[in-house]
Amino acid sequence: MLDRSPPRVALLGFSIECNKFAPPATKAHFLARTYLEGDAIVAEARLPTPTMLPETPGFVAAMDASGAWIPVGIALAMAEPNGPVEHAFFVELRDTISCRLRAALPVDAVYICSHGAGLTTEEDDPDGALFEMVREIVSAGVPIAGTLDLHANVSERMVESLDVFIGYRTNPHLDMRERGAEAAAAIREMLGGVKPQRALIRLPIVPPTVTLLTAAGPYAEMIDLGQRRMNPKIMNVSAMGGFAFADAPECGLSVVVTARHDKRAAEALAREIAELGWANRARFYPRLTSLDEAVAKALAVGRDRSLPALAFADVADNPGGGGRGNTVFLLRAFHEAGVEGALLGVFYDPDLAAEAHQRGVGAHFEARFNRCETTAFSEPYTASATVEALTGGNCVGRQGIYAGMRLELGPCAALQVGGVTVVVISHRVQCADPIFFEMMGLDIRRARSVVVKSRGHFRGGFDEFFGPEQIVEVDLPGLTSPMLNRFEWKRLPRPVIPLDDNVEWRPAWPLTPHRGR
Ligand SMILES: [Zn+2]
Repeated sequence: MLDRSPPRVALLGFSIECNKFAPPATKAHFLARTYLEGDAIVAEARLPTPTMLPETPGFVAAMDASGAWIPVGIALAMAEPNGPVEHAFFVELRDTISCRLRAALPVDAVYICSHGAGLTTEEDDPDGALFEMVREIVSAGVPIAGTLDLHANVSERMVESLDVFIGYRTNPHLDMRERGAEAAAAIREMLGGVKPQRALIRLPIVPPTVTLLTAAGPYAEMIDLGQRRMNPKIMNVSAMGGFAFADAPECGLSVVVTARHDKRAAEALAREIAELGWANRARFYPRLTSLDEAVAKALAVGRDRSLPALAFADVADNPGGGGRGNTVFLLRAFHEAGVEGALLGVFYDPDLAAEAHQRGVGAHFEARFNRCETTAFSEPYTASATVEALTGGNCVGRQGIYAGMRLELGPCAALQVGGVTVVVISHRVQCADPIFFEMMGLDIRRARSVVVKSRGHFRGGFDEFFGPEQIVEVDLPGLTSPMLNRFEWKRLPRPVIPLDDNVEWRPAWPLTPHRGR
């Protein structure tokens, strides 16, 4: 007899990208972005401008549209990329998920929204630990679909614990909502009887993040190959770039293929894509512009309005990779060289924003950047400034990865420092959306240079202003520098490209994910 009661689907998540070299993330960081339990998850996901990233809203909308279901919200914690999560908070979250999930049993399926490059102060694979715990609680027969950021460092237990592994396919990440919807479709299929099989291959390549764009390049070719090879046997192909700064044993470019039934089909396709990645290995080295050259370019476009405007990406101080968003190298160099018509954002300095609010619009003062030094890269800098504009920092993302998301940047100030207008914020976030300038009344179209503290997601937010040929990636010191040889690695697999010579790889067989016992 058919059981016609609507399926009960548990929703949970833990989503943060962690940089081993950055200061720890605390519970407060999650509370400031997204921390929800129970029914509040689905209620927030159904809002027009939720605070969470769009996978869960996409999942919920697709489940709503595809038939009856009973959502069972468990717990969802998300934060801006940061350092490793304080282990006590992760334990608290894990226990909350465990208690709530056990209390919700029986469930018919589980959706997990995860980043996949999390760390705690004691654990290098908290995402895998969480997936494994969820699998143990719901038992083997219950379908689990997971969505992951393409910067995930994929562990064997992640792949083993999920039934369907769904990674983002675009960088900038503009397909989060679609991947959530894909997870919903996969769950519907599995509720209909499909029992997927997965294959994982990891390469000894830890690509600098600037080499992981998906419009073109070595990584884009892997993703494209996977999509070209989609066929009725294959449920999902995820080429995962990994996140070097996690400095974890699972770091590296990897391929996860989920087949509907046929494990050999998954293995063969994973191998084909991994072999392409390996063939492309010489192209996973960054090519950046020196600071002197960047200054010269900014001076030139400032003087000659017939030249196309330029975007300068401070890729080494990307809050989207755990950077503090407060290094002054570009600000100081542009200001002291006399660059004109520049915007710079968004600079994380709550003390300076508070002082600007206290002084008011129009005030002239000595702006002291980084009066509290947060890392060795966050050098103090003092310059004469004028307060141009002030806001409370509440906004809704307009374009790119934050589009449609409710964001709180805290008290914000636009400070004119010579020819550079700096947007100072109080809650750290990467400069991926033009709204961060526009809410201050600044006109991006009039700027000659726009400095963004972002590695690559600004490309999705600022594409109406800057084509790829107008983007300059600047080589500077910082917590997210693509020059990986400048870091002291402790846990990365070695030897590995791009750090070592004579790296070899041959696909290991069998490819069946196994526990590292
Ligand atoms: Zn990512």
